[in-house]
Amino acid sequence: MVQLTFLGSCQEIGRSGFLVTGHDESILVDYGVKFQNPVGLPVPISTDDLQGVILTHAHLDHSGAVPQVLSDSDVVSLFCTPATRDLTALLLHDMFKVTTSPLPYAHHDIRRVFDQCQPTAYEDTLPLGREFEMTLFNAGHIPGSAMVSLSIDGRRILFTGDFNALPSRLHAGVRLNLPRHDVVVTESTYARRVNPPREEIERALVASIIDTMDRGGVALIPAFAVGRSQEIMCILEQYGITRDYPVYVDGLARDVNEIVMQHPNYIACPREFERAVRHTRLIHDSRDRHRVIHKGGVIISPAGMLKGGASKMLFENLYDDPSNTIILVSFQIPGTPGAELLSTRQVTLNRRVLRVRAEVRYHHLSSHSDTNGLMELLMRVPGDPEFYVVHGEPESCDALAQALTDSGHQAYVPEMGDSFEV
Ligand SMILES: [Zn+2]
Repeated sequence: MVQLTFLGSCQEIGRSGFLVTGHDESILVDYGVKFQNPVGLPVPISTDDLQGVILTHAHLDHSGAVPQVLSDSDVVSLFCTPATRDLTALLLHDMFKVTTSPLPYAHHDIRRVFDQCQPTAYEDTLPLGREFEMTLFNAGHIPGSAMVSLSIDGRRILFTGDFNALPSRLHAGVRLNLPRHDVVVTESTYARRVNPPREEIERALVASIIDTMDRGGVALIPAFAVGRSQEIMCILEQYGITRDYPVYVDGLARDVNEIVMQHPNYIACPREFERAVRHTRLIHDSRDRHRVIHKGGVIISPAGMLKGGASKMLFENLYDDPSNTIILVSFQIPGTPGAELLSTRQVTLNRRVLRVRAEVRYHHLSSHSDTNGLMELLMRVPGDPEFYVVHGEPESCDALAQALTDSGHQAYVPEMGDSFEV
């Protein structure tokens, strides 16, 4: 008997966690947090029979509570790609710096991500305990991201994690030809949208930058530190922007660049990325920041929704000048300064309403599959699997489950805490 329990990420994005239980052993896949006050956690688990934690990727909604499990038991190992290990530790340290809400483990427990990790490459198959076998497949989402395939008792379960079916400048895209699976637990973030062709978005982004440079302004690109910032660097390298104009990288993206350089196997374009790193300059401190603001150029900087980090500081210095452009490149969650900027052209920061005179552009470079990409991967999984749809707003989970049902499959939308015999 194999039991699959949904610990979080049910009809919501955040606190991913799935427990697979066999005869007398269990495996945990992801254990993330949800950013709210207080921080949202997955259903607690016992580590008594736990043979390991497998991490799909470094984003904190998948990894943020992993140190809690590792600190509960010194003998529990963490399995993930080496890029995921390093990026996870970086993001956990950053979370401790910025969050005001209490976390379920101590800062020094982050060290366990290194101490208890058994780094695992894509496509290698490893035995876990006596009952399980595990393989990681490239998910094409961010550097190091993986889909997790678990075998137990003759059954095979796939956890897609977050994936992108289409190639980007940074990734070749998800591994589409998968082995037979009996069960698939899939994300559904963008189950209700169709993304325009990537190249069209890239060209529009480049045009916005050139317009801004022509009028002597600053183009500020608030971007997620992991993945999006590096992809934008590669786009700007590809289109010659790094050659023609000064391009700067600020905030946490600087550290992510170093980690990505150390793990070139986990991106599709290591040479191009290395060139992009060579052709961009780093902003080290507020003196640098002020110099760049007055000189002009392109600045790539987290946070992607202007919620904090260097991009917020830069924005406060750039919003009032019509020669500048603020270029948003990811979905802006309602309630964030970025979402407010897109819908009202003003931003409330520290209770002050800033009316934005800079130009505002939106070029959405998604690192998730849209509805077509989701179905493309899921329809190709051999073995007529049954599907469990998670990691999406309720409407997105329902839409993907309906599309899967319409194409003749069994599909379920679980609730937090639900257990299924699979
Ligand atoms: Zn993710």
